[in-house]
Formats: sequence, C-alpha cells, structure tokens
Amino acid sequence: MVIHTDIIVTQSGLWVKEEYPSLGSNPDGLVTCKHCVESLGLIKVKSPFKFGDMTSSEAAKDPSFCCELIGAIIPELFS
Ligand SMILES: [Zn+2]
Repeated sequence: MVIHTDIIVTQSGLWVKEEYPSLGSNPDGLVTCKHCVESLGLIKVKSPFKFGDMTSSEAAKDPSFCCELIGAIIPELFS
C-alpha cells in the first residue's frame, strides 16, 4: 500500500460523459498527490445536520463525527 503524503483536494462540480449525456456524477472534490501523476480518487461529503454550522476541520474534532484529522490540513471547501 502506497501512502501519499502531499494530498491536494480540488473542488469539483458536475461531470457528464459526452457519449451518455443523461449520466453524470457530482463529486465534491478530486483527490491528487503532488508526487503522483494519476488522480487518486474523488470524495463525496455528507454532513449530518448536527455539523451543519461547522467547517469539516471543526467537525472532525467531535468524536462522534465519522472522520478525524491525522496530521493533515484540509481546505475548507465545504463549509
Ligand atoms: Zn503520491
């Protein structure tokens, strides 16, 4: 398993495949690494109502939140 240390999350919008314009996807972010050429994946953020007024970094401090920060700084794209 490769561990990527310099992750970049870029905000994304709707993606539509030209050949099938009735199909689309709307990831919230595209995940890349500064050192790798290929994209690592995408993210979709779902936030329970309880965390609606918080940034993702603030929510991650709550032990009942589904994610935690481990030595990372994440952009507040979804606040
Ligand atoms: Zn990498």
